[in-house]
Amino acid sequence: MSDLTVKDNWVVTMDYSLHVEGELVDSSQGHDPLDFIQGIGNIIPGLESKLYGMKIGDSKKVVVSAADGYGDLHEEAFVDVPRGQFPGQIPLEVGTEIQVRDEQGNPMAARIAGVSEQAIKLDFNHPLAGKELHFDVTIVGLREATEEEMAHGHVHHGHEH
Ligand code: ZN
Repeated sequence: MSDLTVKDNWVVTMDYSLHVEGELVDSSQGHDPLDFIQGIGNIIPGLESKLYGMKIGDSKKVVVSAADGYGDLHEEAFVDVPRGQFPGQIPLEVGTEIQVRDEQGNPMAARIAGVSEQAIKLDFNHPLAGKELHFDVTIVGLREATEEEMAHGHVHHGHEH
């Protein structure tokens, strides 16, 4: 249909699914496809680097190591918090996602990684840190990014900035 291929500073529109440890964890199915500007780090580097040269309609499986995905697990991102600091309504179960605020008041996402009588262990790692990522991608659109999109570093859909 055309000889357009994925290259830097082009807007790529892509259907994708992501499997981790055999489980589907994310997919564009039932949503709009993902769009992003190639070459400026809109998506994880281990996936971005494998897309060059793909054409509209091309599909590919891409395996991304943890280091090239969401990073390795960091021990220092596990923090023990005294039980007394938790509001009573939070279910204190392993796996529960909670939001806490750092010293500047910025919201941070964490998961409960352990529960003991004295303390709750929180995990501030990205949920996909330390995981190998298995993507299936299909390129569904390609166009040059506008100057404004390049200045902002993200794709515009005609209304938002
Ligand atoms: Zn913008």
